[in-house]
Amino acid sequence: MEESLIKRLIATIKCGTCGRNYEEEDVEVIEHADGLWFLRVYCSFCNVKCLVAAIIRRNEKPEVITDLTEVEVERFKDLEEVREDDLLDMHNFLKVFDGDFPRLFRQ
Ligand SMILES: [Zn+2]
Repeated sequence: MEESLIKRLIATIKCGTCGRNYEEEDVEVIEHADGLWFLRVYCSFCNVKCLVAAIIRRNEKPEVITDLTEVEVERFKDLEEVREDDLLDMHNFLKVFDGDFPRLFRQ
């Protein structure tokens, strides 16, 4: 079940830079809760790394909500290390999050 979901998701997302589809080995799942998935992807063609957030619902086409380019990842990587509290926050956040990323990023 989970594997086929991931395959569908990978088939859906394309590199934001060159437009190629990712290979299965280029995609790493960081975190998922219900239908919301956070992935780390690497395009072996143009060497761009992205973080992708996507929603997968049963029997529906996966929907990619946002991705971050390597530059944006660089910006975030020097932030403080993730602690247990942060994971708990993330968990609580995902429980109530409605998937509205555009609104989230405007805040
Ligand atoms: Zn690419």
